Amino acid sequence: MQPSIVILGAGYAGLLCALQARKLLSADDASITLVNKHFYHQLITQLHESAAGARSDRSIRISLPSIINGKDITLVKGIVQTIDTKNNLVLLENNKSLAYDYLVVALGSDTEYFNIPGLKEHAYTLKSVNQARLIRTHIESCFARFPYEQRPELLRFVIGGAGFSGIELVGELADALPKYAADAGIDVSRIELYNIEAAPGILPGFDQQLVEVAQRSLESRGVKFLTGQPIVKVEDSIVHLRNGESINTETMIWTGGVRGNQLVIDAGFNTDPRGRAIINQFLQSPNTPKVYMIGDCALVIGENNRPLPPTAQLAWQMGIATGKYLYHDIKGGTKAAFIPHIVGSVASLGRKDAVGKVLKSYRMYGKMAYMAKEASNIRYLTKIGALFKNEPFSSTLSNVSQ
Ligand code: NAD
Repeated sequence: MQPSIVILGAGYAGLLCALQARKLLSADDASITLVNKHFYHQLITQLHESAAGARSDRSIRISLPSIINGKDITLVKGIVQTIDTKNNLVLLENNKSLAYDYLVVALGSDTEYFNIPGLKEHAYTLKSVNQARLIRTHIESCFARFPYEQRPELLRFVIGGAGFSGIELVGELADALPKYAADAGIDVSRIELYNIEAAPGILPGFDQQLVEVAQRSLESRGVKFLTGQPIVKVEDSIVHLRNGESINTETMIWTGGVRGNQLVIDAGFNTDPRGRAIINQFLQSPNTPKVYMIGDCALVIGENNRPLPPTAQLAWQMGIATGKYLYHDIKGGTKAAFIPHIVGSVASLGRKDAVGKVLKSYRMYGKMAYMAKEASNIRYLTKIGALFKNEPFSSTLSNVSQ
């Protein structure tokens, strides 16, 4: 019988791994099973647009059956409970188990709450299409309630963390909130949009010139930055800062960081303090080489011996590389060590603005940077064969097992 490859997670890393492996290996060479929580692939890099109402949910989720149709990849909808590397088994909820010869763990990241009291209980997070929908409907309800309740905290929006996720969300909200206000007949000046950052400035570590451009752009649209001010506690409708001040709000959205997936720690893999799996140069778990760990749940060391930020770009590259490694495992040949090629990064600042740095030193601003980000989204959709497929999805194709 041919070896079985089981891939956990159909995010950027897992999906590209499955497609690449199947491109190189025939169905007689290996079976490929892709396990995912949903029947759809989520365009995580665009969640902030959906959360603000600038893009429909359907445009950022893509039917997995439509992508893998005809490719001899079995899709299993399920939630992974345990990875048992001693017995080469993955246990899913409802007591289902999957045996593997080769396992690819591409389960993404969890939110990092830094043990801040009340944060997990009282903040929204933005890591899935469903969470984006929850944020959007909550914002809509704040504007619907305000004319009746007149409470300022309904129109006071707080985003915790001014990394890329926080800034992209703030940019989108800065454009969208005035439209919600206009629709509800509310004076735009009643809106307050705060972005709170623990570090001395926004987008810590990013190019300073671009940081200043981003800050000016967002402040000109009404964003209030509180920097050097860690959030230390969150209560129902109150955000507490280290300096003793507090902000009353009905909307606290936490974008303060990510850590590796807890399942990876629970399965006994070695991880760094942020829960990311330690891997070798071929993206394998060093003690269990038949297990590959890719995407946000793994730790990749870049130039200067520093961990690379967990980005979609890196996840795609790890997915494609692992597809090739699986081919070599099964068909032979020499593996080349994984070398990431980080082209650059672009942060969108709303509908028409962005800042980005590519090829190490080339800075981009405004519409050009925004178009570059859109182009990268289109390139990705083309790569997975999903351009124009991000619309209503079906879960009834024959290669889907439940
Ligand atoms: P992050 O860790 O990059 O940023 C989180 C921010 O929250 C940091 O600036 C941190 O100082 C701040 N913070 C932490 N604790 C705080 C506290 N108590 N109070 C206030 N602020 C606090 O996390 P992220 O923005 O979610 O990004 C995660 C990864 O995804 C990063 O590697 C990022 O580069 C990547 N990403 C990239 C893009 C893009 O390329 N366009 C978009 C989103 C995310």
